[in-house]
Amino acid sequence: MSDPDAIDCHAAADQLYEYLDGELSPTVESQIRAHLADCAPCFGLFDFEETYLRFLEARTRAQGAPAHLRRRILDELFQHPEQPPRS
Ligand SMILES: [Zn+2]
Repeated sequence: MSDPDAIDCHAAADQLYEYLDGELSPTVESQIRAHLADCAPCFGLFDFEETYLRFLEARTRAQGAPAHLRRRILDELFQHPEQPPRS
């Protein structure tokens, strides 16, 4: 790594939740983005956490909804791209 602004895996993981919440300064955010572009393990971790956060949000939104609607929301969230959407 020759870029003096480059961050390591530890620094990236340290700021994972701030990154996902959009609480970082643009500078730090772009440093993390640059790291994720180069680092498959960190990209996988961030991707996993983001999916998990979205899942929690969807579950919160779905609370109080009838079971069939709740199921549909979760189905749509995790729909695999190779499966055609059901209507
Ligand atoms: Zn990394």
